Amino acid sequence: MNKFAMANENDIINGSSTDVYFDKTKEYLAKLNINPHVAMEVTSSSSSYGYINFTGLNDVISLFENKNINLYAIPEGTIIKPRDDDGMPVPFIRIEGNYPDFAEFETPLLGFICQASGVSSYSSIIKKILGNVPFISFGIRRMHPAISAMIDRSSYIGGASGVSGVLSAKILGIKPSGTMPHALSLILGDDQAWKIQYENSDFRVFLIDTYMDEKFAAIKAAEEFPDIDYIRLDTPSSRRGNFPNIVREIRWELNIRNHKNIKIMVSGGIKIEDLNELVNAGVESFGIGTSISSAKPVDFGMDIVNINGEDKTKRGKFSGVKNVLRCDQCYKVKTVLRNINEEKCTCGGTMKNIMEKYIENGMVIKNENLSTIRQRSLNEINNILNL
Ligand SMILES: [Zn+2]
Repeated sequence: MNKFAMANENDIINGSSTDVYFDKTKEYLAKLNINPHVAMEVTSSSSSYGYINFTGLNDVISLFENKNINLYAIPEGTIIKPRDDDGMPVPFIRIEGNYPDFAEFETPLLGFICQASGVSSYSSIIKKILGNVPFISFGIRRMHPAISAMIDRSSYIGGASGVSGVLSAKILGIKPSGTMPHALSLILGDDQAWKIQYENSDFRVFLIDTYMDEKFAAIKAAEEFPDIDYIRLDTPSSRRGNFPNIVREIRWELNIRNHKNIKIMVSGGIKIEDLNELVNAGVESFGIGTSISSAKPVDFGMDIVNINGEDKTKRGKFSGVKNVLRCDQCYKVKTVLRNINEEKCTCGGTMKNIMEKYIENGMVIKNENLSTIRQRSLNEINNILNL
């Protein structure tokens, strides 16, 4: 038995983390000696974020490696609405193969992309609002530890400038970002905690609100350590009153004492709707936790669209194997049948197919590194995402 109430890697790869009705379906098909070749597509009819930053394909590729299927997908970090400009659902992934060879993997496939895309879509909206103001993903403690790297990877693709998770950062190949916990000030007292942080950190962020009022602690920290990078406020909600006004007051008091170099970072319960006012008040960096890690998953579904060469699907879905064209000039999107790879756009640009082949007969033929994916995402947040 597993020690924790969770699937381990083998449970996922061998299909035992599936729903039982897939096992039954496979059993019935085997009894009847039926082995249909199907094409299945992953679509989402709507998204609570308007756009989807498509993320989680990395794990889907690992899941289907060495399984006898072909897999096509939109690249990770692509920002796209769930429906094209004419209202047709956009396929994000297509799998072709004999149904009994992969039926049970629908459950883990959707789990990989629904949650990751939810986290990265939420992060992308934060990134769009904040522009060059950095934010760090702080939220792994609010979710199951087994998925911490997925949360941080998705936040980072979505535009977070750093992640707090040690394992996440190792997997992502970046340096973890962190400041100092209240525990350090509680154990050592502010003076000693600040001093040791000052002497041992190349990026100096002082947490100032463990014992003292934010304003007087900020002034004290600035006068004792005038070249620190940031003071961080993690003011508890019971003390918060008007958080932007607390920030404004600290900014003012630091400025008139010639500490304009010391920036203000805030954390603790920050949501999308708080950002503009806090930036306006003078916040220059954010730690954002629960609202990112608990972002609503995208409700992707997976459906058969062709059986043994015949276009066929359930009520409410669109049959036939499809491509996704996107204009290289105006980013207009159009879902088309798979025999169409390119079309002229009404704007004069060219609409090109963005579905790419990642797996051929179980062999991974395309895999992108994280910096390529993140760069695509950042470009698309800039050029395509409209709030
Ligand atoms: Zn166009």
